[in-house]
Amino acid sequence: VSLLPARGLIVGVDIGATKIAAGLGTPHGRIQARLVISTPREDPDRLVTAVADLVAELARGQPRVTAVGLGTCGRVDPVDQSVMSSIALGWSRPVALRALLEARTGLPVFIDNDVNAGALGEHAWGAGHGVDDLIYLGVGTGIGAGIVLGGRLYRGATGAAGEIGHMVIDLDGPPCPCGNRGCLEVLAGGKALGAFASTDVPGDSALAAIALGQGAVSARDVFEAARAGDAHAQRLVRRTAEYLAVAIVNVVNVFDPQRVILGGGLAQTGDLLVTAVREALGHWTGCFVDGRKALVSTALGQDAALVGAVAVARHGLEARS
Ligand SMILES: [Zn+2]
Repeated sequence: VSLLPARGLIVGVDIGATKIAAGLGTPHGRIQARLVISTPREDPDRLVTAVADLVAELARGQPRVTAVGLGTCGRVDPVDQSVMSSIALGWSRPVALRALLEARTGLPVFIDNDVNAGALGEHAWGAGHGVDDLIYLGVGTGIGAGIVLGGRLYRGATGAAGEIGHMVIDLDGPPCPCGNRGCLEVLAGGKALGAFASTDVPGDSALAAIALGQGAVSARDVFEAARAGDAHAQRLVRRTAEYLAVAIVNVVNVFDPQRVILGGGLAQTGDLLVTAVREALGHWTGCFVDGRKALVSTALGQDAALVGAVAVARHGLEARS
């Protein structure tokens, strides 16, 4: 199922925990102009106003803007496209984001979570172009997946499909905020990596000085040190990659996708992560499918959710017509 030809422009918006990126997208997913602001947290009204202002600014003097697409952190209701909850945005109550933004912008608005948006973006115009069965893995502070099967986003019965961050990888693993233990996210997410890197740091590692200076090491620090040749940081990256590889092996055995696309904040580190994951997948080739054949890097990079938001609107417009 590929997208039909379309004419109008679409404003795409990527709502993250720290920043909101908005872009004027062509029907082919090219971003022509963009704006970035800090995310107003806690107060949904301020966020709605900020997004409506971004849309108005990008659409000014552009009579061909036909819709707005959003990829947002948090859980999105697949029916009314409200945001059911978002810890990252500091929202504890459901927010009728689509209805509020349609009232403010006068344009049709289509919303999905940022990882589903990333999957649709990669499918339409990125590393999954021309492929109808793919898994997009967003590895950042947390970990999520967007699943495209037969060219369509698979949402599951309640819209919660793709919560790969809560796939249990270690029966005796650390507790997860979700209530279970040993979830992928608490073993291989960016937040977990930073926490592992901040404790028991060997004195000869570059991370020791960072831990001492900043009080904590970030995932980005680990990747930078690993690239500079720090042996301890390289071990931490390998450990993260081993857990991700186990999750990918499990997913590949369930779905047999043509592509597993590695994206998200931790994948924006050159080839370091994808190379380590590919190597780790080499330890798990005894089963039906070799995960290494499916694994590729994101083609849209940091723009996956933004470009994906344009794809979300394209799919929404098509479903309506
Ligand atoms: Zn969990």
